[in-house]
Amino acid sequence: MFRATKIRLYPTAAQQDLIARQLGCVRFVWNKALDLKVAAWKERRESLSIHTLITMLPVWKAGDYPWLKDADAQALQMTLRHLDRAYGNFFARRARFPRFKKKHAARQAYAYPQRVKVESDKVFLPKIGWVKAVVHREIMGAIKTVTVSRSATGKYYAAVLTEDGRSLPEPVRHVTRVTGIDLGLNDAVIASNGTKTPNPRFLRRSLKNLRRKQQSLSRKVEAAKARCVAAGRPVADLRDYFGSNIAKARRQVARAHERVRDARTDWQHKVSRQLACENQAVCVETLNVQGMMKNRRLARAIADVGWSGLVTHLEAKMQAQGGHLVRVDRFFPSTQLCSRCGARNADLTLKDRTWTCAACGTTHDRDINAAINIRQQGILQLKAAGLSVYAHGGGVNPSPIGMVAA
Ligand SMILES: [Zn+2]
Repeated sequence: MFRATKIRLYPTAAQQDLIARQLGCVRFVWNKALDLKVAAWKERRESLSIHTLITMLPVWKAGDYPWLKDADAQALQMTLRHLDRAYGNFFARRARFPRFKKKHAARQAYAYPQRVKVESDKVFLPKIGWVKAVVHREIMGAIKTVTVSRSATGKYYAAVLTEDGRSLPEPVRHVTRVTGIDLGLNDAVIASNGTKTPNPRFLRRSLKNLRRKQQSLSRKVEAAKARCVAAGRPVADLRDYFGSNIAKARRQVARAHERVRDARTDWQHKVSRQLACENQAVCVETLNVQGMMKNRRLARAIADVGWSGLVTHLEAKMQAQGGHLVRVDRFFPSTQLCSRCGARNADLTLKDRTWTCAACGTTHDRDINAAINIRQQGILQLKAAGLSVYAHGGGVNPSPIGMVAA
């Protein structure tokens, strides 16, 4: 089983310099190799193999680019492998054509294939040395790769990928604890047992702060542009003229974004952890997030909740414990069906938060009813896949409104 652990690094000023140099060399090799590959194909219809490119590295070092010797050789080879994979992904139609790496990109990273050591309070990086670190979780198993990155806010991380030699646990065949969840905007997660997790609205809270910082940044950029024009310098090279004020404003914008992102990720892990702890199977409706994103008013709220990240984390946690994540087709009319008798209420509108079934008289909370239907549909799918499901309760018989746990 692979496991990734992200460790915060605290390099000294001298080590930051070395990391910057390493990043520069990796960027150079990526861009140089990409350039050669594109040219070889254009001019000679030749596709340069990864092996050809790797044999070029010592030639470059001995020739025009002796400073490449300062960088870790294996990290340089690694970037060629990444480029090779990026090409493969492009031809398999999984990704866009690989792009040149920019010096001013917000996040910069490079990877070591081996020779990294992790101790309780420090990490050894080849060519950099022992770097102070906060290792919040024990690193178990063999280290596969270590990716060193510098964020837009100037923080350093090492993402350590390990393989513990074990395989994923066998998924359980007898399921007794199942929950269906409906994903919403007022409440982010509505569970079939009636539990509602409110939408934390990270972005809305931080948006004002973010907007103020963005305005401050753009004012400074405009002023710098005006100075360039006045001095007759090309505006296109503006980034090279950026003074410390603009750099500072840009860091502040990046930090505001980072805070929102961190809070959201943290929330996703907490919610998915709890769902995973309490269940052997969680049923979730597949969402047409891209379709919903076209509705601009909904788009920000959806991006704010981060449903897809939540489901991704949930799936990983369920797999790690031998549980199931059941995706229920989004065209299944989970909202309109009465979860008690199965009658369909086609007249239901988005505004109806509660409704009473004309066939059996049960009054439903719209979202909980949907979650119960998703659960029932998920149980059917589990049974269809040959599993036995002995699940009782969990809100299969809906409680009357007012008695549900909210
Ligand atoms: Zn009914």
